[in-house]
Amino acid sequence: MLGHDRQKRILILGGGFGGLYAALQLEKTLARNPDVEVTLVSRDNFFLFTPMLHEVAASDLDPTDIVSPIRKLLRRVKFFDGNVESIDLRRKRVVVSHGIGTAHPHELEYNHLVIALGSTTNFFNLSGLQERALTMKTLGDAIYLRNRMIQHLEEVEFRLNTKVTGISERGVELGDGTIIKTNTLVWTAGTSPNPLLETLPCRKERGRLVVSSYMEVPDWPGVWALGDCAAIRDVGLLFFESGRGKLFYKLEELGQYFVQLGIPFPHLNALVTASIEFFGGVCLILGLATRIVSVPLAFIMLVAILTAQLDKAKTLGDFLYLPEVLLLVLFVWLVFSGPGKVSMDQILARKLGIDGDKI
Ligand SMILES: Cc1cc2nc3c(=O)[nH]c(=O)nc-3n(C[C@H](O)[C@H](O)[C@H](O)COP(=O)(O)OP(=O)(O)OC[C@H]3O[C@@H](n4cnc5c(N)ncnc54)[C@H](O)[C@@H]3O)c2cc1C
Repeated sequence: MLGHDRQKRILILGGGFGGLYAALQLEKTLARNPDVEVTLVSRDNFFLFTPMLHEVAASDLDPTDIVSPIRKLLRRVKFFDGNVESIDLRRKRVVVSHGIGTAHPHELEYNHLVIALGSTTNFFNLSGLQERALTMKTLGDAIYLRNRMIQHLEEVEFRLNTKVTGISERGVELGDGTIIKTNTLVWTAGTSPNPLLETLPCRKERGRLVVSSYMEVPDWPGVWALGDCAAIRDVGLLFFESGRGKLFYKLEELGQYFVQLGIPFPHLNALVTASIEFFGGVCLILGLATRIVSVPLAFIMLVAILTAQLDKAKTLGDFLYLPEVLLLVLFVWLVFSGPGKVSMDQILARKLGIDGDKI
């Protein structure tokens, strides 16, 4: 049902921070290309600025102040108002239900899939909580709470450093045995990944999809995850895994790529690059020789920017968003700032009686 056959189809799931900003970026780049069709699917036809949600609940702002209609923000990217029911990564298809009351399913095909479905409230399995608590995730939640507060406006008391152990008809039970009677309970104490992620056969960390520095899901080319759906790994782990893949499985491919880029001694340089990423990643994970390994890693990023990435950036904004640029800044910063307090470098310095600030 999407586009004509020779078109590449990019499907973005979720119209929140991750999904909408991906769509806005593609609006300026790929969506101009007639051979590419970009579609954003979300169950709300508006973008919600969540950091100001509490101001709607407190009646400081009107609901319309913190929402923007998605269709007005996008000209080339298509918008599909629907609920994502299931994702089939093997068949590259997503089932979306559409319509109020008698919702009907649509199957959308894709070549590239961006998963940005956000998160849900985490109730930490506390008994009685989910049934009795109000949440603070959607515009509906904020409007409901605002109306409820107007009905029950009273004095407010703060209890900090207090553990909630259970919720019952009598009220909120605290760790010290106290029960606070209440008829309005708002729970904002945590988030869980979107339940749809559980159904995906991908590597996860605390329920989120593990992604590369390009936000791509490893082993699933063309599948990407953003925002609360993505687990962005420690930079050392990122380079360790990238270097391991190149060193043990893709060395020949990397050499050929370097030939295309016109890099001198391509096969030797492929081996050196993969080794630096692999061993540099191990050192960063351990916090060992942090300043030293940051130098060749920064150099690799600089070469990657100059040889492979610079042409892709049309504007300064595009350039600054290149992962290689962010990583280059990070490594330069590490060269100057040195290792953190919890690192092998600091442990060794203490053992050798060297001032930790000087390593
Ligand atoms: C009250 C509140 C205040 C916050 N304040 C801050 C802050 O000050 N600073 C900060 O950094 N972060 C803040 N956050 C967290 C921040 O909002 C999230 O980290 C961010 O929104 C994550 O972006 P995302 O794109 O992953 O998900 P979201 O922005 O949540 O977007 C997910 C989108 O997917 C849609 N969706 C979900 N499931 C489906 C489905 N099955 N079918 C179709 N569409 C679906 C949703 O409707 C939504 O449009 C706050 C969050 C809340 C709730």
